[in-house]
Amino acid sequence: MNVMTPPPVRKIIHVDMDAFYASVEQRDNPDLRGLPLAVGGSAARGVVAAASYEARTFGVHSAMPSVTAKRKCPDLIFVPPRFEVYRQVSQQIREIFAEYTPLIEPLSLDEAYLDVTENLKGMDVATEIALEIRAKIKAVTGLNASAGISYNKFLAKMASDLNKPNGQAVITPKNGPAFVESLPVKKFHGVGPATAERMKRHGIETGLDLKSKPLSFLQQHFGKSGAYFYGIARGIDERQVRADRIRKSVGAEDTFVDDINELDPAKAELKPLVEKVRRYCETHDIAAKTVTVKIKYSDFSQATRSKTVSEPISDIHAIIDIAETLLASVFPFKRPVRLLGVTLSSLNNQQADEEPQLALQL
Ligand SMILES: [Mg+2]
Repeated sequence: MNVMTPPPVRKIIHVDMDAFYASVEQRDNPDLRGLPLAVGGSAARGVVAAASYEARTFGVHSAMPSVTAKRKCPDLIFVPPRFEVYRQVSQQIREIFAEYTPLIEPLSLDEAYLDVTENLKGMDVATEIALEIRAKIKAVTGLNASAGISYNKFLAKMASDLNKPNGQAVITPKNGPAFVESLPVKKFHGVGPATAERMKRHGIETGLDLKSKPLSFLQQHFGKSGAYFYGIARGIDERQVRADRIRKSVGAEDTFVDDINELDPAKAELKPLVEKVRRYCETHDIAAKTVTVKIKYSDFSQATRSKTVSEPISDIHAIIDIAETLLASVFPFKRPVRLLGVTLSSLNNQQADEEPQLALQL
C-alpha cells in the first residue's frame, strides 16, 4: 500500500507596521503625538506618503493628493519624509524576523511575509510567533505592528488588516474559503481600483461572485492575473515566500474604461502610473536608469518605447518628462489607446541584493 502524506499546511505571517512613517515621526517628535499628521507632500502639492491615525479619521490616506488631504483636514500637519530613519527601523525589524525564519519576503520597508512552517525556534503555533515578534518590535523600536496569520500569502495579508492597529488575526484553512466569499473584491490584495471597476462591469463584486466565474472567463478578461483570481476566490494561493527575490524592473499599468484618442488625456493617465512606480522605488531604496512606456491599442496591438540615461534617476519630474516624451513619440496614435504602462528598469539594487543571496547558498 502506498500511503501519501499530504504536504504540511504552510504557516505564513504577514507583518505590517501601523502607519509606519507617521508613527516614526510621532515617536521621534513628541510634539506631533496625538495630532493629524501627513508624511510627504506639502499643503500645496504632491501626495501624502503616509497618514497618522488621527489624520485617517478625517479620511486622509496615503497616495491622496496633498490638496485634497488639506481640504478634508484643515489642521493637517505636513512633515517631510526621513527615509534614512525609516530604513534603519526597517533593518531592526528584519533582524527580529530573522531570529525566527530565513524565509522573509519584504514587500516594502514596513511589511513582510514570513514563512514560519519550519522555524528556527521550533515553535508550533504561528499566532504565538506573531505575538512574540510584535512584542519584540515594540520593545526595540517603540512602534506598533499588526500581523495576519494564515496558510497562504493572500490570506495572511488580508488578515493583518482585520485587527489593525496593534492587533493580529488568524484565518484558518477551515474558515478561509468562507472569509473570501464574503469579501468585496475591491478589498482583495492584487485588485486595484481599475481592476475592481472592470470586475464590477462583469457583475463581480464579492469573492462569491468571483468564485462563480470559470477559469477561462477570468483568463480571457484579466489575462495573466486570471489564474491568481481563480485561486484566491477559493482561498488558494500557492505563491511561495521568496527570500531571494531580486526585482529586475518595477512597472504599473492601467486599462481604461474608455479608450483614449488624444495626447493630453493620455499624459494625464501616465502620471499616476509614474507616481506609483516611483513610490515603490522610494520605499525600496532603488533608482532606475531605464524608463519604458507601453501603449496597447484598441485592437490589442502594442508598442513600447524606452529611454536609458547614464545615471539612475530618482527625481519624479525627470521620470515624468521622459515618459511623456516617449508617449508623444507615438502620437498621433494609430488607434485609440486602451492601456498604458510605465516600467522602470536597469535598477541599482542588483549588487546590494546579491550578497545575502550568496550567503544563503552556503
Ligand atoms: Mg503598514
